[in-house]
Amino acid sequence: MATLTYRYVALTDVGLRRSNNQDSGYASPRLLVIADGMGGAAAGDLASSATLAEIRQLDRDLDPATDGDALEAMYSAVTRANRRLAELIADDPAVEGMGTTLEAMLWDGEKLAVAHIGDSRAYRLREGRLSQLSTDHTFVQSLVDEGRITPEEARVHPHRSLLLKAILGRDDFEPDFTWLQPAPGDRYLLCSDGLSDMVPDETIERTLKLETIDLAATELIRLALEAGGYDNVSVVLAEFVPADEPMDEDLSCADGRPQIVGAATTQPRGRTGNASAATAPGTIAATGTTDEPDPDPEELRYAPRPVPRRRWLRWLLATVVVLGLLGGAAAYAYDWSQRQYFVAPSGDLVAIHRGVDVSIAGITLSHVDQVTGVRIDSLPAYQRDRVNAGITAADLDEAKRIVTNLSIQVTEPTPTATPSPTPRRTRPTPTPTETP
Ligand code: CA
Repeated sequence: MATLTYRYVALTDVGLRRSNNQDSGYASPRLLVIADGMGGAAAGDLASSATLAEIRQLDRDLDPATDGDALEAMYSAVTRANRRLAELIADDPAVEGMGTTLEAMLWDGEKLAVAHIGDSRAYRLREGRLSQLSTDHTFVQSLVDEGRITPEEARVHPHRSLLLKAILGRDDFEPDFTWLQPAPGDRYLLCSDGLSDMVPDETIERTLKLETIDLAATELIRLALEAGGYDNVSVVLAEFVPADEPMDEDLSCADGRPQIVGAATTQPRGRTGNASAATAPGTIAATGTTDEPDPDPEELRYAPRPVPRRRWLRWLLATVVVLGLLGGAAAYAYDWSQRQYFVAPSGDLVAIHRGVDVSIAGITLSHVDQVTGVRIDSLPAYQRDRVNAGITAADLDEAKRIVTNLSIQVTEPTPTATPSPTPRRTRPTPTPTETP
C-alpha cells in the first residue's frame, strides 16, 4: 500500500443554549482527539481538558522499547488520564462526578490506534459511504443491542444521552481499543454528541463529501447550530492522502501545527480552529448566554452507573443462588449460573471459566472449564487487565471467540500448555480490525 498521510482540521462551537464549552478537541499530523466533558459548569471543562492534556503526550515519536506499539501507548495514556481525574477529584471533592467521553486516534504511519469511551463518535466516509465506527456506550444503545428499541427510536429517546461508560477517575472504566486501517481518500470524522444528536447520518454523509475537510467541518457545525445547537458541538476531521501529494496551502493544516479547540484552549495558544471565525457571523452572534431556567441536561446526563449493569445483574442473581440454596428456589438460579461463562486467569494461563465470577459468603459459583495455552503475561497490558478483571461471555462459543481474539494478540512466544504442532513463535503481522 502507498505510504499515507492525512490532512486535518478541528473545530468547535459552544452552541446556542450553553454558556461554556466543555468539549475539547485536538488535531495534528499524528493525533486526533475529541473529549466531551461532563459534571457541571467548571468540572466538565476540567475533565475534558485534563484528559486531552494526558492524551496529547502521545503527539511525539514513540519509543517502542518503553511505549510499545501505538495501541499500547494509547492504552497507557488513557489509563493515565483516568488516574489524573481521580487525583483531581481527590484534591477537590467539589468536582466529584466529573468525567469525559473520549474518541482518540493515534497514527503510527501505517494504521490508526483508536480509543473510544462514551458517546462521542467516530465515522468514516469511504467511497462515498458513511459508516459509524464506534458504538455508543449509552443506555439507549444497550436497548438497541437487546432489540428492545430501534435505532430510530433511540435517536429521540428521552434518556438518549445517559452514558454507561466514561472516563470518571474510577477503577471500573472500560474503553474500547482497536486498530483501523485507513485507505487513500478516506475521511474520518470524530465528533461530540452535539453534532450526532442534531444532524442525521445522511446529512453528515452528504456534508463530508464537500470539496475540502475545512469546508465540511464548518458546514457540520453550521448544520448543528441550525438544528437547534442544544449542546457544545465539536468536530475533528482527517482526510487520508498519498504521502507525496502536494499540500493544499489553503487548508488550515498547511502549517503542520496542532489545532486545539474548546475547553482545552482556556489558555489561548496559537492557532485554534475556533468556529466563530469560520461560520457565518449571524449564527454565532446569537450564542453565548442563555437564561434557560431548566436543569442543565448535562447534569442529568452524567449519572453513569457506578458498576456496569451486567455486574449488578450477576451479583443479584448470584445472591439469589445463595439465598436459594438456603431456601427452596435454588434449582433455577443455580442452573442459570452454570450456563454462564467468563474468561479469566487460571494460574499463569488464560482460562474459560464456567459459572459466574463472584463468590458470596465463601461460596464460589464458578469452576475452570478449559485452560488455554495463552500465558497472561504474553498479552498486551490492556488485554492482561481485561482478563484479570474477567471478561464475561454470553456462552461457550463467545468465550472461545474471546480466547481466539486474545491469542492473536500475544506479544511474545507462549509455551503452550497443550502442545501444538505449530507453536506461535513470532508476533503476528498486525491485522487491523474495525470497531463494529
Ligand atoms: Ca455533549
